[in-house]
Amino acid sequence: MPAPSSPSPVSTSGRLPLHDPIAAPLPEARTEVKTTTCYMCACRCGIRVHLRDGGNGPEVRYIEGNPEHPLNKGIICAKGSSGIMKQYAPARLTMPLRRKPGTERGAGQFEPISWEETFTLLTERLGQLRATDPKKFALFTGRDQMQALTGLFARQFGTPNYAAHGGFCSVNMAAGMIYTIGGSFWEFGGPDLERAKLFVMIGTAEDHHSNPLKNAIGKYKNAGGRLVAINPVRTGYAAVADEWVPIRPGTDGALLLALIRELIALGLYDRDFLVRYTNAGQLVNQAEAHDEFGLMMRNAEGDVVNPLRPANFFWWDRLSGRPVADHAPGADPALLGAFTMPDGTPVKPAFQLLEERVRDCTPEWAEGITGIPAETIRRLAHEMGVTARDHTIELPIAWTDCWGQEHKSVTGKPVAFHAMRGLAAHSNGFQTIRALAILMSLLGTIDRPGGFRHRAPYPRAVPPNARPPRSPASVKPNTPLDAPPLGWPETPADLFVDDAGEPVRIDKGFSWEHPLSAHGLMHNVITNAWRGDPYPIDTLFLFMANMAWNSSMNTSEVRKMLVDKGADGAYKIPFIVVCDAFRSETTEFADLILPDTTYLERHDVMSMLDRPISEFEGPVDAVRVPILPPLGQCKPFQEVLVELGSRLKLPAFTTPEGGRKYRDYPDFIVRYETAPGSGIGFLTGWRGAEGDKAMRGEPNPKQWEAYAANNCVHAVHLPPALQYMRNWNRDYMVWAQQMGLRRDNDPIVIHLYSEFLQRFRLAAEGKAGGGPRRPPERLRERIRTFMDPLPFWYEPLEGLQADKASFPLAAITQRPMAMYHAWDSQNAWLRQIHAHNELHVNTRTAQAAGIGDGDWMWVESRWGQVRCLCRHSEAVEPGTVWTWNAIGKARGAWSLSDDANESRKGFLLNHLISEELAPEADGRRFSNSDPVTGQAAWYDVRVRIRPAGPDGAGETYPQFAPMQAVPGMAAAPPKWRAWFAGRMGLGAGAANKGGQA
Ligand code: SF4
Repeated sequence: MPAPSSPSPVSTSGRLPLHDPIAAPLPEARTEVKTTTCYMCACRCGIRVHLRDGGNGPEVRYIEGNPEHPLNKGIICAKGSSGIMKQYAPARLTMPLRRKPGTERGAGQFEPISWEETFTLLTERLGQLRATDPKKFALFTGRDQMQALTGLFARQFGTPNYAAHGGFCSVNMAAGMIYTIGGSFWEFGGPDLERAKLFVMIGTAEDHHSNPLKNAIGKYKNAGGRLVAINPVRTGYAAVADEWVPIRPGTDGALLLALIRELIALGLYDRDFLVRYTNAGQLVNQAEAHDEFGLMMRNAEGDVVNPLRPANFFWWDRLSGRPVADHAPGADPALLGAFTMPDGTPVKPAFQLLEERVRDCTPEWAEGITGIPAETIRRLAHEMGVTARDHTIELPIAWTDCWGQEHKSVTGKPVAFHAMRGLAAHSNGFQTIRALAILMSLLGTIDRPGGFRHRAPYPRAVPPNARPPRSPASVKPNTPLDAPPLGWPETPADLFVDDAGEPVRIDKGFSWEHPLSAHGLMHNVITNAWRGDPYPIDTLFLFMANMAWNSSMNTSEVRKMLVDKGADGAYKIPFIVVCDAFRSETTEFADLILPDTTYLERHDVMSMLDRPISEFEGPVDAVRVPILPPLGQCKPFQEVLVELGSRLKLPAFTTPEGGRKYRDYPDFIVRYETAPGSGIGFLTGWRGAEGDKAMRGEPNPKQWEAYAANNCVHAVHLPPALQYMRNWNRDYMVWAQQMGLRRDNDPIVIHLYSEFLQRFRLAAEGKAGGGPRRPPERLRERIRTFMDPLPFWYEPLEGLQADKASFPLAAITQRPMAMYHAWDSQNAWLRQIHAHNELHVNTRTAQAAGIGDGDWMWVESRWGQVRCLCRHSEAVEPGTVWTWNAIGKARGAWSLSDDANESRKGFLLNHLISEELAPEADGRRFSNSDPVTGQAAWYDVRVRIRPAGPDGAGETYPQFAPMQAVPGMAAAPPKWRAWFAGRMGLGAGAANKGGQA
């Protein structure tokens, strides 16, 4: 029997105590432990949630890592254990709200509305748009993990105006690697630290793959592995690096090209790997006047195994001195040299072109750009090459490649890399990441032990098979799109443009301005919609994206656009719907607010159709199951989509008779199949009527229960022969095709040289090899320049425009280990680690500007200025200033008090960054993005600094009018916050009214 409760938990000061470890639980309070999946960051660790009955139902006592989960094996981080403070955050929205009639948008005046009214309102408005012009509905989502569902909804609705946050996050990382090696870092692949001897992290601080990577780095270091961190700032993982190599932001591409040059010059590349598994030996047409200049030579009589991706290429055989089919048995292809085909066409192997490209990229050249001494670059290249050459790993695993050659063992090279947003978030990021993938390939480290290894569903074809819609005719009233709204263009024919070559999407994705924008350009949606360029929209639906604050560049102006009206007095963006669990800065600008649940209150899937949590050894997917009932009237966004899809009678959500197809989201997840009878659905585990099938099988109505009973995770462990060399592993390909992970089973050859990019160039040059489409005249030089089939380094576009003498410093942000995006800087526990952010400036740089440690300072770009606090640091290279991202808040947002440190001392660097570059000669403005992929160039901004002096010191600039509580939230949360799950008088009823200073 539990001990009797203590008489009172209130301290002698009269305040609620912050912690009372000896207070007794409620008499006979029931305790319970449930498993689910964390969502305090995107890593998705398994967790056990400990609950105690607080009299009004279960309350969370604490959260621990699930030791039986394959991803984190029991480890939990500060964020994960602080999920309890997210669950009981005062900033929770609890009921649907609409802007009060007669009030101005942005004034924060809302009134409750029932869910039935909400659905009726949305069904009428969206139904009318769908029946007339579906593209007037735009659905953009933030850091969610349900893009298979949101993308399906958009496609079924018929709007092309859909994307998630990838375009402003790390699409360069995805596209740069996938267009080269058919896979990418993080959930789709990573470093094999169990066997690596040299590990190079470049452009990473804290990472998405948080706990598993930290765990792996710990073991790696204990085993004697060497860690090199290349980064302008020594934070995060770099703190435990054996060597920190400071580099100027946006110059990584120059370093990588110099490393490639050195490896080639020293002969320290894996020739056998390049010959067999990359296009290094394939012959490239070098007849400049030819319509197919720069494309691979093709053998018209060659063996066309897959007509969609014929691989009838040529090698130049060094033994016979003539061209032969690539992979011809017994041939020894030349990688270097220039040759002439029997018909007189001059050709060169792709590797020769790469060698010519990097020939002048000397370490001295790179030193001038990166700031890294040439000697360091030489030493690193030598170390990489020698480590790979002299420490070959051999595993006794027999396997057969796609060309039928049997291998007695799997071999590998113990040099591993990891990279992320530091490389990606620049306007030259795509070509930089192409260079990284090529460097990794030269070392022979792709899907081999000790190097980079794929995670299912990758590897995928280069590029993957999904293509975006191709013309305005794809958008028709009351009709689904004829292709998914996002995809991977292969040629100009795959662009989503009209007859004049102009964009069809509101964000201008997949247009000649950003041809390979695989994740869209969310950072331009509001500006384009406000301007009506390329057209005005009616309804903007935002989910979990803080677009009025830390997810927007040019934040102050974007906030004005959200409330701007035309000459007719109507809002330029007529209707804005925001779905979020919290009172973010963006909810202020909504006409309709939908209260989402937290991750502890809903069903969720981490699906193989989307972003699973696979391991190197095989596919892994996972689910969340509700641990607690939704707070108030909160409803999971997934349920909102299934409900709306049913009411709008979108075909995928409707029976042939026109009735509702799915009861709710859990029912949808269990019964949905990618095609009738395909046996492929959102989840791979416990499929089939008996629940005894994996990957593929009929829907199982008990699937959720099976996951819940098995730690919410399902793993398929591939036999060792299928775990490596998967781009070219015949048995893996057969299995992957049978399981629906791949459409085809042809080898995925690494593209050192990308003829896909060359086809866009040919189109810009008016050559037939690019197909019939031509870019508008104003974009031809842009396409010709940036769609280069070989990687090259160029100055970031913002840096080219900014006057470097006036703005001598680069400014960047990083994510702290203790917080993930905006939602954590309201968390009562995590706020004790970071409550405001400062600008970190190298001590010498700050002193030269006359700014003392802890002083107020001004930071100015050509777009704006912010006032903030200065922190001197030796952990940042002298030409860079940096701060933590998303800690600074608008006053009153997230239920923080008006004088909270987050708004008074915290600041947002985004005010200094423009979402567009300066106007071109014709007045048009390009997005401040990578010209290949549309990746937001967050880290390109140039700034200058000066002391703030006495003017206004004491708080950051800019400041905004305080946000007020909305119905369903406590108007004035108490100063102190206490939480005692299941304790007398201090359970949910009390603490939900709690607040924070
Ligand atoms: S790493 Fe991310 S998913 Fe894992 S426990 Fe921490 S916050 Fe949760």
